[in-house]
Amino acid sequence: MARADAPTPMMAQYKRLKEEAGDAMLFYRMGDFFELFFDDAKAASACLDIALTKRGEDAGEPIPMCGVPVHAAESYLARLIKAGHRVAIAEQTESPAEARKARGSKALVDRAIIRLVTPGTLTEETLLESASANWLAAIGRAGEEWAVAAADISTGRFELVACGPGELAAELARLSPAETIADDKVPGIRTTAGKGGFDSLSGERALKARFGLATLDGLGSPGRAELAAVGGLLAYLDVTQKSAGILLDAPRRIARAGHMAIDAASRESLELTRSVGGTVAGSLLGEIDRCQTAAGRRLLCEDIAAPLTDRSAIEQRLALVAWLHSDPIRRERVRSALKAMPDFARALARLASGRGSPRDLALLRDGLSAAGNLQQELGDQPDRPTLLDALLPRLGGHAGLTDLFTRALVPAPPLDASKGGYIAEGYDADLDSLRSAASNGRRAIAALEAKYRDATTISSLKIRHNAVLGYHVEVSARHADRLMQPDSGFTHRQTLAGVVRFNSPELHEEASRVIEAGAHALSAEASHAEELTRKALTTASQITATAEAIARIDVAASHAHRAAEGSWCRPELTDEACLEIEAGRHPVVERALAEAGERFVANDLSMGAHDRLWLITGPNMGGKSTFLRKAALIAVLAQAGSFVPATRVKLGIVDRLFSRVGASDNLARGRSTFMVEMVETAAILAQASARSLVILDEIGRGTSTYDGLAIAWAVVEAMHDDVQCRTLFATHYHELTRLAGRLDRLSLHHVRAREWKGDLVLLHEVADGAADRSYGIAVAKLAGLPPSVVSRARSVLAKLEAGRDATGGIAAGLDDLPLFAAVASEPQPDPLASALNALEPDQLSPREALEKIYELKRLARGAD
Ligand code: ATP
Repeated sequence: MARADAPTPMMAQYKRLKEEAGDAMLFYRMGDFFELFFDDAKAASACLDIALTKRGEDAGEPIPMCGVPVHAAESYLARLIKAGHRVAIAEQTESPAEARKARGSKALVDRAIIRLVTPGTLTEETLLESASANWLAAIGRAGEEWAVAAADISTGRFELVACGPGELAAELARLSPAETIADDKVPGIRTTAGKGGFDSLSGERALKARFGLATLDGLGSPGRAELAAVGGLLAYLDVTQKSAGILLDAPRRIARAGHMAIDAASRESLELTRSVGGTVAGSLLGEIDRCQTAAGRRLLCEDIAAPLTDRSAIEQRLALVAWLHSDPIRRERVRSALKAMPDFARALARLASGRGSPRDLALLRDGLSAAGNLQQELGDQPDRPTLLDALLPRLGGHAGLTDLFTRALVPAPPLDASKGGYIAEGYDADLDSLRSAASNGRRAIAALEAKYRDATTISSLKIRHNAVLGYHVEVSARHADRLMQPDSGFTHRQTLAGVVRFNSPELHEEASRVIEAGAHALSAEASHAEELTRKALTTASQITATAEAIARIDVAASHAHRAAEGSWCRPELTDEACLEIEAGRHPVVERALAEAGERFVANDLSMGAHDRLWLITGPNMGGKSTFLRKAALIAVLAQAGSFVPATRVKLGIVDRLFSRVGASDNLARGRSTFMVEMVETAAILAQASARSLVILDEIGRGTSTYDGLAIAWAVVEAMHDDVQCRTLFATHYHELTRLAGRLDRLSLHHVRAREWKGDLVLLHEVADGAADRSYGIAVAKLAGLPPSVVSRARSVLAKLEAGRDATGGIAAGLDDLPLFAAVASEPQPDPLASALNALEPDQLSPREALEKIYELKRLARGAD
């Protein structure tokens, strides 16, 4: 006898699977639902806003439960994954009938976890963002060497990159993975626990097994850290995907030096691919994206995240952009050809994982034939740039597959394969005859209906079909008697309110024919789909190459189009460490202004060997930050292979880009404002080289004036004397302008402003020399500070300035900083007098009085 509180067999099975799922939620398949129990149910019902119910008892307590219908599971999964959950899917691995046959009438259906759905291992269209790659990144380590192995199984991409410990965060920032896994905790990086395999031996073994290799030489002999990362990655994919296939190219090793290094803080501050608010809109990416395909959009995002450093590679990209830019008609033809291109890279990955649908086959057909057309169109064009010549062959070579698919598939197959209807007529004679048998049967049934109406004279008699009874005759209750007669030829099946249902031998025979033919047709279609999928997968790597070539062309066309829209120019690249910009504009600010009906004031910039540190002063809101960021964005765009928003740009390749804004809060990372600023500044001083571009916006602002000024001062000196790279430094510390006298490669610039009839006019023009003053109070007035506060501020400022002028400034050094001299010279209260005044003799004991006398004497000595 089972004990009353012993779990039911089903609960026992559930608990075993839940243990296997670990910290992932368990979707437990029961018929048409995935059910969740216990804490999973509570968390899921809250996250999905679905009803929490109860089912049975466990250890005397009711079991919380909720469920989602299987047919709609994807959308619920999407929400759970977005909310940071991972979900294990436990499917029924046999039908109830099979279970009964094998283990008796009360047998429990077998279930197994067939997949672990995690943010980095998605392939479903509804779960993925179409415009960004979906990387799973694994961190590997061997001694001091670190590496990242990253796979996007939604397209099959697989990358390896080795790096030192200090560069790991920047590499991850470039990839922006959906999920990062590691063996142990990695300081400063949020990871989830991997599933083992993080050692070079496992990695090597897994890599060789996966790609059928005897040696890794063909992969460029990855290092031990890389192999450790690969080991962890492939083990995780095995565990999460179980037996499902995955599309994975051979790994590409990425040389870090091939990309402009940009750390996470700089990416954020420049809003390269996401705005401060976390959206693509408002970022540089959002501003330049004119792509026509999802794959192009993903590549554009990657290009902006990782601008190149190899001049000839950049020139190749630029030449393709220029070719498309110079001929608007050609550009439009290419763009409209691209517009018809579906996201077939992801369709291929879904097919590889066994989660594809007939529609994915059609996406491949349409994508590959559109690629073939584009190949022809471009092949006919003269003066093709080298990059295009290299891409063109990759667009074609699929005629066999597309012909086959065109013959085999209907024009628009359904997403759901279960009802068939996706294989075209004329593709398979047997399938056609099964289908015609089924449709003849259906016609015969229709004829039967007419015959029965005549015979019974019941004009409302119908032959219907449902899932429980199959085909049956239905009449209203008041006509039922006639069919109930023993000699009527009908057999009663079911009585419902108002209608009665019957069967007949003739109907049964026709129905069986229809059903049988239908079932055979379905399985014939399914095996065709399998065969077509298999054929497609044998050329998976060529299909992926085509998708990549399309994406590259799309990105170039997007750049060309954007350049034409905004009159952008092709940047000139050089090896000297210079940056010359004529009439440069900040694309995002320019658009925001245009929407408000205002005009962006274009500005020049010219930095070179003799003038590499620009110190920029000027009023708040004057446009300093915009000017600085614009320079960085132009460098990013140029090295990503885009035209740039200016009339002329000459850029010496930038190896690393840093952008820091003083006093930018980063409470999310748990550091104080000033601490963040200093940690980031330290990183720049440690990492920037002579080929870097550094943007420092009001560094030193987050602490007391003297400390801040002293730090800013020392940082400017260090940038100038030690790092010696192109540096733009915006500051409100006018005292820094004195450095121009001593540092010969530093020049002074300011954003212009004018005070007119007591009001401030910001001109947003950058001019040579230092600003005459800071206009802070004028800006405060502009912002609506109450007049009383504004006038009090003016009088305090006048005193402070008088004090500064009296002591002669700080040219001599930092010892005699005069900023607060005026305040210090105001009469201070005498401490001895204050202490005496505070005494209340009547409240003191004789002993306390004696102590007070000693204290007063000490004060008097201090005051001497
Ligand atoms: P603060 O010192 O307060 O940080 P700032 O000098 O850095 O100010 P920005 O933030 O660059 O000023 O610019 C303030 C605003 O001025 C921008 O949001 C934009 O609307 C406008 N602006 C900046 N540059 C230009 C320009 N070149 N032409 C037109 N408007 C501009």
